[in-house]
Amino acid sequence: MSVAQSDPALLDKLVMANRILYDQGVVDGFGHISVRHDSVPGVFLLSCNRAPGLVVRGDIDCFDLDGASVSDSSNRPYLERFIHSEIYRARADVIAVVHSHSPNVIPFGVTGQRLKPIFHMAGFLGGGTAHYDIRDASGNTDLLVRNGELGKYLATALGAHSCVLMRGHGSTTVGASIEQVVYRAIYAEVNARLQSQALGLGPVTYLSEEEAQLAATAIDGQIGRCWDLWQRRIGPIES
Ligand code: MN
Repeated sequence: MSVAQSDPALLDKLVMANRILYDQGVVDGFGHISVRHDSVPGVFLLSCNRAPGLVVRGDIDCFDLDGASVSDSSNRPYLERFIHSEIYRARADVIAVVHSHSPNVIPFGVTGQRLKPIFHMAGFLGGGTAHYDIRDASGNTDLLVRNGELGKYLATALGAHSCVLMRGHGSTTVGASIEQVVYRAIYAEVNARLQSQALGLGPVTYLSEEEAQLAATAIDGQIGRCWDLWQRRIGPIES
């Protein structure tokens, strides 16, 4: 199977999403974003082992739900591709996945505190974040989700949430489109920063579950506005 069989516009959008996540400070040399193939069930698109800020079209490979490459390429894959494969296996509603180590989220993962929506831009956090500790599944490790078994454990921890915090590691966010998951990954990081600040001032009033749901619905219709702005900062991408 060749990645050329996927919609070229989807491929371009995934490359752009990699660049945006780097430009917005969600990923650095590490972290990744994937999207389900537009026409082949059980297959998703993910860059090879490349810093997201440097990803080009030719880096995008196809993987199956066991995390095995089904592309005609000899590119080295990301070690943690099982994060993506097992979430797609577990969640039919998920179309795109972001994994990052964005810094403001880390303190929540190590204290077991949940991210909760501190403002309307983060209504998607309405149910609170899920929590995952790799040590519960596998004892002492290098913290990386290196195989399908760990990926399954992570997907189970995620449950029906939109974001799971990974103790001592980072977070993984899911969405129904590339634009939505990029938005969520960016605003999970912003919410984490603001929530930490607010907790230092005193007791926090979060959005109620109903407020969060209403806010998320309102924002979902306007994500394109953010996407246009984020995209503008990237400029043309070499092929
Ligand atoms: Mn990682």
